[in-house]
Amino acid sequence: MYLILMGPPGAGKGTQADNIERKYWIPHISTGDMFRTAIRFGTELGLQAKVFLDAGHLVPDELTIGIVRARLAERDCAKGFLLDGFPRNVVQAQALEDILAAWNKKMDAVINIEVPDEVLVPRLSGRRTCSQCGATYHLLFNPPRQDCCCDLCSGALEQRIDDREETVAERLDDYGAQTRPLAEYYAQRGLLRTINGDQSLDKVFEDIVASLR
Ligand code: ADP
Ligand code: AMP
Repeated sequence: MYLILMGPPGAGKGTQADNIERKYWIPHISTGDMFRTAIRFGTELGLQAKVFLDAGHLVPDELTIGIVRARLAERDCAKGFLLDGFPRNVVQAQALEDILAAWNKKMDAVINIEVPDEVLVPRLSGRRTCSQCGATYHLLFNPPRQDCCCDLCSGALEQRIDDREETVAERLDDYGAQTRPLAEYYAQRGLLRTINGDQSLDKVFEDIVASLR
């Protein structure tokens, strides 16, 4: 299965991607995670991307499309993948179509998790991410056993710089202007599956599975 998971920052994409990856055995490819890893390791890509992530703006298309093209060419993507956070605008969506067309492949579905803005802000401010394994928690809605550390690997939990209030507004604006229009783009292609993300984590996953049947 070739899937895209779209939705505003804080919609629950990363959380649900882990569930989808376990159920369907397809790799979860998050461009945000790829950039954060590159920044942590101080690579050339990380140095170029950091300024955009810290400001809550999109990384330029050539850079982003380049890393996705290379990642999708890896062997574990041959039978399917779940893209999370890509594409984020029409240029990226067209580039993805071209990449897949060159391999005689097409997307199967685009899962669009919708959540009202007023719900997103508290989700982002309470999000904590494991500095070691990347697992995501929420201090109120999906709490770790101990506030300080990851349940899975005991790594220290941290708040993403771009989840601070001043940056969140920039990210939501970018989403509305550049990414939300992709829902219509994929609806016209008959691929869109819209999911109500303002429900319990389990119910959101149940609806995603039902939409893929
Ligand atoms: P995204 O990847 O779309 O930015 P995340 O999956 O990281 O979003 O979720 C954002 C925050 O909201 C996390 O702290 C997560 O634990 C929490 N969260 C995710 N889904 C739900 C939900 N259905 N209800 C309440 N909190 C949620
Ligand atoms: P995310 O983890 O999806 O919330 O992404 C975090 C940040 O990474 C974004 O705010 C952007 O700066 C950058 N990013 C992730 N995916 C993309 C993309 N497809 N295009 C441009 N920038 C991206």
